[in-house]
Amino acid sequence: MKLDVNALRYLSKEDFRVLTAVEMGMRNHEIVPSELIARIAALKHGGTYKVLKNLLKHKLLHHDASKYDGFRLTYLGYDFLAIKTLVNRGVFSAVGRQIGVGKESDIFEVSNEDGTIMAMKLHRLGRVSFRAVKSKRDYLQHRSNSNWLYLSRLAALKEFSFMKALEDHDFPVPKAFDCNRHCVIMSLVQGYPLVQVKQLQNPDTIFETVIGLIVRLAEHGLIHCDFNEFNIMIDDDEKVTMIDFPQMVSVSHRNAQMYFDRDVECIFKFFRKRFKLTFELLSDEADDKDVHKDDNNSRPKFSSILPISGSLDKELAASGFSKKDQENLEKFIEGTLKDSKSSDKADIDDDSDLDEDDEPNDTDIKKFESLGLIKQVVSRVYYSTNHLSMSMFS
Ligand code: ADP
Ligand code: MG
Repeated sequence: MKLDVNALRYLSKEDFRVLTAVEMGMRNHEIVPSELIARIAALKHGGTYKVLKNLLKHKLLHHDASKYDGFRLTYLGYDFLAIKTLVNRGVFSAVGRQIGVGKESDIFEVSNEDGTIMAMKLHRLGRVSFRAVKSKRDYLQHRSNSNWLYLSRLAALKEFSFMKALEDHDFPVPKAFDCNRHCVIMSLVQGYPLVQVKQLQNPDTIFETVIGLIVRLAEHGLIHCDFNEFNIMIDDDEKVTMIDFPQMVSVSHRNAQMYFDRDVECIFKFFRKRFKLTFELLSDEADDKDVHKDDNNSRPKFSSILPISGSLDKELAASGFSKKDQENLEKFIEGTLKDSKSSDKADIDDDSDLDEDDEPNDTDIKKFESLGLIKQVVSRVYYSTNHLSMSMFS
């Protein structure tokens, strides 16, 4: 999705007041009645209606008059609220180009006033399955587990908390800087997703490192659940960084073993195919001629993992979300993980964008297309956008 932050420059205090009023109304309305927005925003002389028109023009809101006159936030509207909050906090001051698009997120570069470039992940849970949600849209749809605002916020909070905890335990993850609404700010990984890497100096070492990470995560009570070549970054020194944590589960999850085995299997498969490593295979692959048949012993076994004391899963369960939140998020994410080995590999449903008629269309975005550009030095561009953004955000 295109994120044109230029519009931020033109937005007044009143605009943000009304935008926030819509957000508040969405806690228990899928479409917030206009009168309710006006009541919450409480602008003088009926000013809310004029502001609503302006927000609509900038595609920050969607108008819906099918059942009654009302509005809801678009992704862009929600993005602006999060961006403004984080800019006000001084976390960053400019938004740069998009560096990644996942099934359920958009990643942009952002920079702070020192010119430090970071990564901003905007969670978009429900982007893929929104069509189903939309058909159920109804008056007073209470905050439900299909509400994209709620799910995206939850995914961001979970990702942020997990990233922080993992970093504290010396896992190679981006540094988590801040989080607001559906937005996570983290350090920019100077590397490429493994899927783009055609050659490695030391594939065996990387393989061992990566498998070692799955095991160490499990020892800490966690399973990544989407551990694959899209969520492992490699830099020029072949240093590994793992990313993408909203779907992680505890080793006490009822499907823990299956998720663990699947993560392991993904890595074995990928390294065998891409880097021609040879090791044992599951029985369904054993027919493959060029496969070196081996015993099953080199594969880490979930049952033989010994959790260390003070597991992260318990620590996180105690700190982060309510059990209910966690369950809702899991229910949703499990649905998206079930159909494919990797949620990252699933295509973005062309027709599933939140706003078919009023938002930029996703169809033209080729997955990961801009990732090859990560290496380019963009600080110059940043300084100029910085200037723009500074004035727009002040
Ligand atoms: P999704 O949940 O949508 O798969 P990811 O967190 O995996 O989102 O991010 C999508 C892509 O964006 C990644 O494959 C990666 O290329 C890029 N990306 C994500 N986080 C970073 C980061 N911190 N630094 C650099 N690139 C990143
Ligand atoms: Mg990913």
